[in-house]
Amino acid sequence: MARLNTLLRFGQTDPWLLTNGKRDELVDDLYFAIYGIKRDPHHEHGADFAKSTTREGLKRAYEGLKEHLVCGDKEHHLEIGPQTLWIRVNPNSQEYYYQFDNNDLRDRVFVTYADALFMAELKEGDIVKCANCRTQFVPLRKPKKGKPSYCSKRCANVIASRNFRANKRAKTKKKAAKKKPK
Ligand SMILES: [Zn+2]
Repeated sequence: MARLNTLLRFGQTDPWLLTNGKRDELVDDLYFAIYGIKRDPHHEHGADFAKSTTREGLKRAYEGLKEHLVCGDKEHHLEIGPQTLWIRVNPNSQEYYYQFDNNDLRDRVFVTYADALFMAELKEGDIVKCANCRTQFVPLRKPKKGKPSYCSKRCANVIASRNFRANKRAKTKKKAAKKKPK
């Protein structure tokens, strides 16, 4: 689920509106979502990944996923580029395994997103919108019917303090109204 939420966040965050530090964090998270390991420039994927996360590469991947997330159609087809199929032998277990690969970040993001959706065994409607910032995300616990969902503690706190202030205002008004008849 963390993988899916990372990708949802990626599709809704323009990487060029982030500070360099925040963008690096997002790219690290993206690497983890795609490869399932911590980003390491010396790893076999590290160099490819670095090559694909250029300004242009990030922009295309972000815009492609964003387009899918806002479209909301039940069916969505995405064109992806040519893939390379690797048949390899695991050096430890000597077992065969296979991997699809290409060097395009947008394609990788799409394939990972589709896989994460499938693996999370989600149903339509399980991806919800935050009641404060409208970000789409998958809540880690099933939300109670009719209760608002928040993408983060920060968003929950924004609404909680807004409600608190509104309640307080309402109470003072009531008090004022009671006093008036005197
Ligand atoms: Zn939010």
